[in-house]
Amino acid sequence: MKVAFFSATKTDKNFFANNSQAAPLEFVFLEAHLSERTAPLAQGFEAICVFVNDDLSEAVIQQLASYGVKLIALRCAGFNNVDIEAARLHKLTILRVPAYSPMAVAEHALALIMSLNRKTYRAYNRIRDGNFTLEGLLGFDIFQKTAGIMGTGRIGLEMTRILTGLGLNVLVYDPFPNQQAIEYGAEYVSLATLYQQSDIISLHMPLLSETHHIIDAEAINQMKSGVMLINTSRGALMDADALIAGLKSEKIGYLGIDVYEQEENLFFEDHSEEIIQDDAFERLVTFPNVLITGHQAFFTQEALTNITRTTIENILDYQQQNIKHDRCVLCEDK
Ligand code: NAD
Repeated sequence: MKVAFFSATKTDKNFFANNSQAAPLEFVFLEAHLSERTAPLAQGFEAICVFVNDDLSEAVIQQLASYGVKLIALRCAGFNNVDIEAARLHKLTILRVPAYSPMAVAEHALALIMSLNRKTYRAYNRIRDGNFTLEGLLGFDIFQKTAGIMGTGRIGLEMTRILTGLGLNVLVYDPFPNQQAIEYGAEYVSLATLYQQSDIISLHMPLLSETHHIIDAEAINQMKSGVMLINTSRGALMDADALIAGLKSEKIGYLGIDVYEQEENLFFEDHSEEIIQDDAFERLVTFPNVLITGHQAFFTQEALTNITRTTIENILDYQQQNIKHDRCVLCEDK
């Protein structure tokens, strides 16, 4: 089976080429992101393989279906970029990688917390510039501070394990509490309590209509002055204008984000020779207490190995009509 592989990077090619040698699959690597403009590249393929910022809107799905595409293999867990109704209408099979390394994402969230607090990203540049002063680098002990974790699924649970292990008091919020978080020593509280009591707040819930812009001006208003906000989940959980206002008023003391609402126009590409048109993003970059990474939280050896193996397995399962329902986005009985 030939698979059109959109948004292919050098790293993707290495991982997928190395892991598919024994499989009856041929990946055709395309650097283009999937969009209305590039969808015609899928002509002649029964299966395509896509990533987080590929466009799977109604118009694209319609085009794909008209070319005879039957399978969309997502190389990620989230499927908020897929128009589910359109996919259902066109009877497409959509398979995903539900868990590949929750540790990778939680550890990156921890890296953002540690770097923001001790300002290692600023110290690195200072030392290279021959400036050995410590002014402006003052941090705080995170031991016994209070962290609020929103969403205690796979990643939020790892984050709970890590932060309780470091001696923080951990407050958690999730509409579906998980006993394991309590066993790690966390306490389930209301969202209002989490906002009011946390020194550090880390987001680990999916992007849904009810979580869109959950961190808005009203939420920020309820938080402690100088709060540290961390988002390694999805950009649209946060309202960028509210973040900028909160940073300007110093209500937000630190912001660490690996995701951004309009990231599909920026991330995973080299724009260093261009004028970036996103004013909110550019404003965020100017704050000394904002640390942004370009959707790299998942990017570890272990996670990529798992993503590659599960994606290949998903495509082979589809070929053999033996789909694992926990990886199937539209299977009714999953
Ligand atoms: P998961 O499905 O295991 O857990 C999500 C949790 O969020 C569930 O426990 C759910 O009950 C909870 N939740 C739902 N609505 C909520 C709400 N309103 N408030 C609080 N909690 C709520 O998902 P996961 O594997 O832990 O992944 C979490 C998110 O991380 C994904 O949705 C994805 O967007 C993101 N992610 C980012 C990266 C990255 O590289 N930055 C990588 C993987 C996943």
